Amino acid sequence: AMEKSLLEAKQEAEAANLSKSKFLAAVSHDLLQPLNAARLFTSALEEKQLSSEIQQLVTSASRSLNDVESLLRTLVDISKLDAGAVQPDKARFCLADLLNNLGSEYQQVAASKGLTLSWVTTQAWVETDQHLLARILRNFLANGLRYTPAGGRLLLGCRRQGASLLIQVWDTGLGIPENRLDDIFDEFQRVQVEPANGKDQGLGLGLAIVDKMARMLGHPIKVASRLGRGSMFSVQVPLAEGVERAQPSN
Ligand code: ADP
Repeated sequence: AMEKSLLEAKQEAEAANLSKSKFLAAVSHDLLQPLNAARLFTSALEEKQLSSEIQQLVTSASRSLNDVESLLRTLVDISKLDAGAVQPDKARFCLADLLNNLGSEYQQVAASKGLTLSWVTTQAWVETDQHLLARILRNFLANGLRYTPAGGRLLLGCRRQGASLLIQVWDTGLGIPENRLDDIFDEFQRVQVEPANGKDQGLGLGLAIVDKMARMLGHPIKVASRLGRGSMFSVQVPLAEGVERAQPSN
């Protein structure tokens, strides 16, 4: 009887946790709508000829809205993952476009923060969910940019390892103390309270999301870091069998 009630308690706790995740997913998703309405107004204002004082206020308002949006998207992401509402959709594709797109997109963000980003590309074919992989890499790149002081460098690279490909994001940033390398993947765990660049808007959920996505895909994630020197985050994706021989990686 004792064991049964423990089991029941566990099931109840799991059910409560699931409804919490579903609630959070619904609320954060619903909040995006009025937010987007507000953004329509700020972008309309940005196109008007306004005094520089008002222009500055509009720009600040629109930046804050961007911050709120990215926080809400993070909450939507994590709660959907917890609610089991994300299903990986694996397919074979060539990595070249994905790496080139990420590289050129983040190169611009990097330049605006006084950082340089370079990337290598490959014709290798992999088998994974392209959108989830892109989200993992975006998290790595965004963190690299946040935790690297101006003047630093980032590199998006890849390296073949047996039947898989390691996609790596290197930075010359703040680094992470060795005893924190595991727990930064847990929810709400943060090492630096102030990032190297700008205001701090992190929730400490980015790597928890990465970890959940990578587990779902079955792709190992690794981190290596030296305090004050920099960090390397990687995700290991399987090469698409057969195709890789026809299209060898660089
Ligand atoms: P957030 O960036 O919102 O705090 P994350 O889960 O993405 O949350 O990262 C957790 C913590 O790991 C960060 O707060 C930061 O301390 C550390 N971290 C992540 N990436 C890097 C990096 N490239 N360099 C240094 N520290 C990092």
